[in-house]
Amino acid sequence: MLRERPGLLSVVLPAFNEALNLVVLLPELNRVMADQAEQLELLVVDDGSSDDTALVVQSLIQQGLPLRLLRLSRNFGKEAALCAGLDTADGDVVLIMDADGQHPIATALQMIDEWRHGFDVVYGVQKGRSETQSLARRSCTRLFYWLIHHGSRINMPPNAGDFRLLDRRVVLALRTLPERARYMKGLFAWVGFKAHAIEYVPHSREHGVSSYGLLQLLSFALVGLTAFTKMPLRLVSVLGLLVSVLSLVFGAWVVLEKTLFGQPVSGFTTLAASITFLAGVQLLCLGIIAEYLGRVFDEVKHRPIYLLQDLTPPMSGGGGEQGEGGT
Ligand code: UDP
Ligand code: MG
Repeated sequence: MLRERPGLLSVVLPAFNEALNLVVLLPELNRVMADQAEQLELLVVDDGSSDDTALVVQSLIQQGLPLRLLRLSRNFGKEAALCAGLDTADGDVVLIMDADGQHPIATALQMIDEWRHGFDVVYGVQKGRSETQSLARRSCTRLFYWLIHHGSRINMPPNAGDFRLLDRRVVLALRTLPERARYMKGLFAWVGFKAHAIEYVPHSREHGVSSYGLLQLLSFALVGLTAFTKMPLRLVSVLGLLVSVLSLVFGAWVVLEKTLFGQPVSGFTTLAASITFLAGVQLLCLGIIAEYLGRVFDEVKHRPIYLLQDLTPPMSGGGGEQGEGGT
């Protein structure tokens, strides 16, 4: 059975220095989305921008656009900005889009259509992304998904990002998750619900540059791994076992060689190579354990995920409460 069009549709747009893009995107979104729901709320989360992002939104509010502005007290990162948006959005349906205009509005309309056909989560999958990446990067990505897939029960689709539509039930489920490591892609997969994928080709950025270089992506992948799977820790144990068995065999061989054939243990080279190799393995394993310890350290501090500087009141007719910062 087809769902009615939503009473309130919230579009959450995390924005970090996106004034030039928002000037174009927001009026366009308003024009196209207005008849998709009885009421529309465009919620811009200003993630500590140093440009005119907030001013642009405020002037568009003056012009009568159905906008809400949520300002964080500093730059907390996209994941925290998304959480702030999801904690504040009052919609029966919440759509998450980038504020740089890279996510096609036509795909967003398709997402709403799929929601009306009964899906609770509709997520965008970037078409042909892996073909443009280097072999090294593709191998790392494959290892990452292999570890997540085999080390946890969640099914995290590759090439799917934050461009997605969520039913209110999913948003409420996400709000109950207490962890500080907001690896949203993993959290979206963790909560489950009936999901559907839509392929899309992102537009290129009109203004500004992407905030995510290779280093940021690597550190982001580490957050994802330590938050969603203990597999690397198990691999450390397996490696330890393997090295122990091998040294036992090697030790037995050395003793046999000496007693049966009278050969003395040969060479400084073997000794030096095995000591440095084992020192490397041990440091690597310590590093893996330290990553998990760091995750625990971040979690036990219980700091809020973000802090609000200010928030415009809910749309008239929307029944939501004021957000109060992350818990
Ligand atoms: N973003 C944010 N806080 C940040 C970095 C980025 O809210 O610290 C927003 C940014 O304004 C954009 C979205 O997250 O709307 C995606 O960022 P970006 O375009 O830099 O990433 P990419 O599209 O390259 O993955
Ligand atoms: Mg972008």
